[in-house]
Amino acid sequence: MQHHFIANAPARSSSERTLPVIDPSDGQTYDTIQRGTADDIDQAVRAARQCYEGAWSKLSAAERGRLMMRLSLKLGEHAEELAAIEQRDCGKPTKQARADAVALARYFEFYAGACDKLHGETLPYQQGYTVFTWREPHGVTGHVIPWNYPMQIFGRSVGGALAAGNVCVVKPSEDACMSLLRVAQLAAEVGFPAGAINIVTGYGHEVGDALARHPGIDHISFTGSPTVGTLIQQAAAERHCPVTLELGGKSPQIVFADADLDEVLPVVVNAIVQNAGQTCSAGSRLLVQEGLYEPLLERLGAAFSNLRVGPAAMDLDVGPLIRQTQQQRVWDFLSDAQHAGIPMVAQGQVVEEAPESGFYQAPTLLRDVPVTHRLAQEEVFGPVLAAMSFRDEDHAVELANATQFGLVAGIWTRDGARQLRMARRVRSGQVFINNYGAGGGVELPFGGVKSSGYGREKGFEALLGFTTLKTVAIKHG
Ligand code: NAD
Repeated sequence: MQHHFIANAPARSSSERTLPVIDPSDGQTYDTIQRGTADDIDQAVRAARQCYEGAWSKLSAAERGRLMMRLSLKLGEHAEELAAIEQRDCGKPTKQARADAVALARYFEFYAGACDKLHGETLPYQQGYTVFTWREPHGVTGHVIPWNYPMQIFGRSVGGALAAGNVCVVKPSEDACMSLLRVAQLAAEVGFPAGAINIVTGYGHEVGDALARHPGIDHISFTGSPTVGTLIQQAAAERHCPVTLELGGKSPQIVFADADLDEVLPVVVNAIVQNAGQTCSAGSRLLVQEGLYEPLLERLGAAFSNLRVGPAAMDLDVGPLIRQTQQQRVWDFLSDAQHAGIPMVAQGQVVEEAPESGFYQAPTLLRDVPVTHRLAQEEVFGPVLAAMSFRDEDHAVELANATQFGLVAGIWTRDGARQLRMARRVRSGQVFINNYGAGGGVELPFGGVKSSGYGREKGFEALLGFTTLKTVAIKHG
């Protein structure tokens, strides 16, 4: 049985109830976590506050950086162990689980180095005054984390918050807690003071809601669905608590007729099958210029047919989805597509070794998807790619911007002027030209516009969101 991690110690929930931990590869329960309560959140927030005003406040920025670097090195030493935990908990193929563990260590490395490089400014003002600004931490920050990339999202969110001088109360997804409970233990082992990193597990509508409403939380960083993002924002609005929202996406890959097909193909495939399509920035819409549409779909269809899906430990192209309800959600989308007469170009194969009780879904390529259909509008969060064609730049921009989301866009063309025109006209938080995702990019600010959220995480920019600016004006004559 797993416990919360509060003030550097395991803690039972006041509910005295637990939730099952299920392996998505076979659908079987293999452990339990605490079903947390509002009282548990209160206990964690108190521990965090005590730390913030006590041991944490005594650390200089450089000392904080050294502590974070020690954790980064420790995470690197334990990368295989963490990857194995994540693989079982989330159904991630080995390569993906390892990449997540390595990225977690890298986030702490990046933010360790940033701790003592965050500073205010001196401002020119009237004669007789000296005016400057301080960048101060918010205090106790709350972090609500989804199940798709627990370690990476913890790294970017908690890493940034700690570097800026905050202490953290973390609510992981009820479907993916295991790696983060271990990370918190490792943080305690390298010397993080009790209360700096606290983890409370349980349901979102119980523990997550209590976190968003708690008066002792000074800032909330939420990563998850737009629906829950709205609830978090509403709860936080009651007490004017600042919020960063990292929400969903329906990101377009826009391929012009002059693009290099050999370069486009593997990247387009990976952008939708990575993590079984359960990626906020998945390239889930494929917009192709007329002329290249048929040749590209033919080659892409062949690539999809070769994709193999199976248990995470087999380390195939695609692992299982996180849970049965997610599998059902993808099935519902595909059934809607069938009823609407949307043609299927190709599907990958689920291998024979995959247990029937696991949550598998073969990657699916659909073509001629009408821009108004829900497959072109809503996040499937599964390995389903919706392709459509466009005539020219104006048409490409119209289609690209025709959803409520604006997280990431990929633009594929050799024409430099068009690259820049398109990058300006597409509404999204990140634009990639002749690549997609830049291999993760810990250093690159990330976040959305429209219903993809607001605020930025990753990179140095995140530290601005995890601080508040105080202006000090001195009149000395
Ligand atoms: P979700 O919104 O269902 O859950 C996210 C977290 O919120 C979980 O910890 C959950 O327990 C909690 N939660 C649920 N109800 C709550 C409530 N009423 N109050 C407070 N907390 C609550 O999302 P999910 O299914 O875990 O993750 C998938 C979603 O996350 C997708 O929409 C995806 O695009 C998004 N996502 C976005 C990013 C990004 O950076 N933009 C990254 C990863 C995932």
